[in-house]
Amino acid sequence: MNQDYDLIVIGGGSGGIATANRAASYGAKTALIAAGPLGGTCVNVGCVPKKIFWNAAHLAEQMRMAEDYGFDAVASRFHWERLKAKRDAYIHRLNGRYAQGLDGNGVTLIRGHACFHGENQVEVDGKILHAPHILIATGGQPTWPDIPGAEMGISSDGFFELEHAPRCVAIVGAGYIAVELAGVLHALGSDVSLLMRRKHFLNDFEPMLREHLMDAMLHQGINLLAQRQVRELEKRPDGLCLHFQDGDCLGGLDAVIWAIGRRPNSAELGLENAGITKDAQGFIPVDAFQNTAVPGIYALGDVTSAPALTPVAIAAGRRLADRLFNQQSERHLDATLVPTVVFSHPPIATVGLSETAARETYGDEAVKVYQTRFTPMLRAFSEDPEKTAMKLVTVGREEKIVGLHAIGDGVDEMLQGFAVALRMGASKKDFDDTIAIHPTSSEELVTLR
Ligand SMILES: Cc1cc2nc3c(=O)[nH]c(=O)nc-3n(C[C@H](O)[C@H](O)[C@H](O)COP(=O)(O)OP(=O)(O)OC[C@H]3O[C@@H](n4cnc5c(N)ncnc54)[C@H](O)[C@@H]3O)c2cc1C
Repeated sequence: MNQDYDLIVIGGGSGGIATANRAASYGAKTALIAAGPLGGTCVNVGCVPKKIFWNAAHLAEQMRMAEDYGFDAVASRFHWERLKAKRDAYIHRLNGRYAQGLDGNGVTLIRGHACFHGENQVEVDGKILHAPHILIATGGQPTWPDIPGAEMGISSDGFFELEHAPRCVAIVGAGYIAVELAGVLHALGSDVSLLMRRKHFLNDFEPMLREHLMDAMLHQGINLLAQRQVRELEKRPDGLCLHFQDGDCLGGLDAVIWAIGRRPNSAELGLENAGITKDAQGFIPVDAFQNTAVPGIYALGDVTSAPALTPVAIAAGRRLADRLFNQQSERHLDATLVPTVVFSHPPIATVGLSETAARETYGDEAVKVYQTRFTPMLRAFSEDPEKTAMKLVTVGREEKIVGLHAIGDGVDEMLQGFAVALRMGASKKDFDDTIAIHPTSSEELVTLR
């Protein structure tokens, strides 16, 4: 076989870049083919721009509270276009840093759209490249609804392109992206409606979290519309109008954001030329070692059905490179106990099993739950006493902690350390034996009774 490279990586996002850099650091001759801007979804239209807007929204909330802490009322006007320009420049710098990183590690960066020409062959811009190892890390893209007028709405990608704050906006969806965008837009001054097909959002999460968040959002003035099936989007003189299956409608909107899910970028890869199959949703099936059904071809990140999170894609990629090019033959991703934060207002932090899942797995007898709901000091002192809620799910006589769930100020930064404890098999007694840090909200997690 011709061999141009030891490894060809398709996709310059979180997973692809991490794999290429790690493989090259072991001396593997590596090429990375990138169709889009370096950094992929996370850097360009995901985690990074979202967190910048979340930070702005968080500051807006803090400014509203400042008066309760002895400041003159802060009535500062928010300039969306100013933040967007600064954010775009920041992302542009990150794109450059990724290019430098690849270059520094000796990875050959090839710009273009790759597709399979055969099992060990990838075609880009009419050129065929050969390698014994090929990684598919092509990520995903937003799903669009198949209804009349859908093209007048925007996806989360379009949200990041908005030049001005929408005055009145509807977000359709029930996943974490829908919830996060609703919180950001509301905090920055938009009139926000969030529409979901079922009774709740965040349906796969611990119910305590979503119920608390729904209450908080309603209290903040976000218009939550449950059990609404969208039928059509229409343009009217006073703005966009969403029509529902039940005949009702919501009009006067100047933006509609579809946040109804994401689909894998697997359609235009010529997978059939290499004999790789997809599942019904288009995800590429892999085993625990990222192997597809074809030897020498691997997949990871959002193009597989792994949790769609940047650190999951990065961890899978680094472990794959360790295995292929550093003789760590058993190295692979363990996707249990993946900690996750939803950057809602207030934020959610969650790791492990929900109470329901624990009861299903271990039986009712084995499960014991500890929970609390309190007003954190920051809020108790203000006019907006938004509460924090926490829950520990334990199993067995030793009360091993299998789930930790929290919602409230600061829980986003609290979770990482607790996730280490759960990974190490911490029990309730370990938490009890840990000296609390006072006065904080996190101390509640080690003083639960
Ligand atoms: C709005 C939003 C917010 C998010 N927030 C978070 C968050 O807070 N925390 C978190 O952990 N995760 C978050 N995510 C998820 C995270 O962005 C993804 O899980 C992560 O980017 C997946 O990495 P990946 O490498 O699989 O794919 P991607 O990062 O999507 O990269 C894939 C790359 O492959 C390229 N590509 C596709 N096809 C080809 C081809 N044929 N040839 C060459 N290149 C190709 C694409 O252009 C893209 O650049 C968010 C996602 C979104 C949309």
